[in-house]
Amino acid sequence: MWILRINMSDRTYRLEDVPAGYQKLGGRGLTSAIVQDEVPPMCHPLGPNNKLVFAPGIVTGTKAPASARISVGAKSPLTGTIKESNAGSGWAPAVASMLIKAIIIENQPDKNDKFWLAHLYWDEAGGKPKVEFSPADKYPGKELYSVFPEVFDRFGKVNIAGIGIAGECKYSNSGIVFNDLAGHPSRYAGRGGLGAVMGSKGLKFIVVDGKGAPGVEIADQALFDQGRKKLSEALRSHDITKPKGALNTYGTAVLINIMNEAGGLPTNNFSSGRFDGAPDIAGEAIFEGNKERLGKELYNHACSPGCIIQCSNTWHKKDGTEHTSCVEYESVWALGANCGINDLDDIAEMIRLCNDYGIDTIEAGTTIAVAMEAGLAEFGDGKNAIKLVHEIGNGTPLGRILGSGTESAAKVLGVVRCPTVKGQSIP
Ligand code: SF4
Repeated sequence: MWILRINMSDRTYRLEDVPAGYQKLGGRGLTSAIVQDEVPPMCHPLGPNNKLVFAPGIVTGTKAPASARISVGAKSPLTGTIKESNAGSGWAPAVASMLIKAIIIENQPDKNDKFWLAHLYWDEAGGKPKVEFSPADKYPGKELYSVFPEVFDRFGKVNIAGIGIAGECKYSNSGIVFNDLAGHPSRYAGRGGLGAVMGSKGLKFIVVDGKGAPGVEIADQALFDQGRKKLSEALRSHDITKPKGALNTYGTAVLINIMNEAGGLPTNNFSSGRFDGAPDIAGEAIFEGNKERLGKELYNHACSPGCIIQCSNTWHKKDGTEHTSCVEYESVWALGANCGINDLDDIAEMIRLCNDYGIDTIEAGTTIAVAMEAGLAEFGDGKNAIKLVHEIGNGTPLGRILGSGTESAAKVLGVVRCPTVKGQSIP
């Protein structure tokens, strides 16, 4: 296997052998180890000395259930510490299939006013991965739901990682987006402002095409199959993870009512753990709302290849067309209960906008709640909350303050109740 090291100052790359100390690491363990070993602790997160690291998990690319995950790490613009955020996407197994254990993005263009696209594919003649760089001039400033189809039209059946307008603006609330199985920009390594780090490298997209790649090597196939079978059977029979079980029916938002009853649902800028509107926005309400609008029951789907839990949900508009995916627990409490909003259409619109602009839904929700506490909107006012998300996406002066994250916004707006730890909002 290799480590792929990309130098964004001159758009060159090299494949390196995996050091002995990294051989048994993958995912979060590997991204954090590389950041610890290679990133100077005192460097600026958006400067040339920070590094952005992507690593599939140790079984990503195999038939292990729910294993198509990608971990992203760097020094975080929000916390100033080692950050890890991860997502499920076909991007992860495509990278793993090329025998790449990690991708390290380092340095940045001399003039940080231009964006590039890196096309990573398997070079059959050379028997190894290859990267080609091209200017990404036509993509910045556009919403991701319109840009992703352009990238698919250009490269065909590929997987995409990238940043939206928020990452281009180097907002501390920006995430790194990956496509879901429908090709939508809906799967996020959202936390910690890693989109800003990618933006600081002048990198807009990493397009991965694993066609022809050899695939992941398994040391002991029989033993692996034994473990996979055991895990699959456990997942298929447990009430939470089985088909038509809690997650497949209600998504992760099944937690809304549970957390509300436990008194732990963040409400009105963390001023309460109980929200009267919780039943209106819980996973059960999403399921029933979809049933009413579609005229049939809708169970959830996989966000990435090979997932048998299939917790990824979709919210539909009144006319039965898709509004957005995915309406996760974290997005619902942050943009819903924590802003006092009990309208699923308003919450879904804010999630869609966050996907479109490249924003972390958690940081966005906690920041809007702080803005509400400062009087910029009333708690429960979904329409004005939507306007605040647009302010971020449009890069207005207020939007740039809100895009800087909850802690910065609280300081600027003079709000004392600021639910952050080390600069990042509490999940
Ligand atoms: S659909 Fe849900 S359970 Fe499956 S990989 Fe995606 S996030 Fe995990």
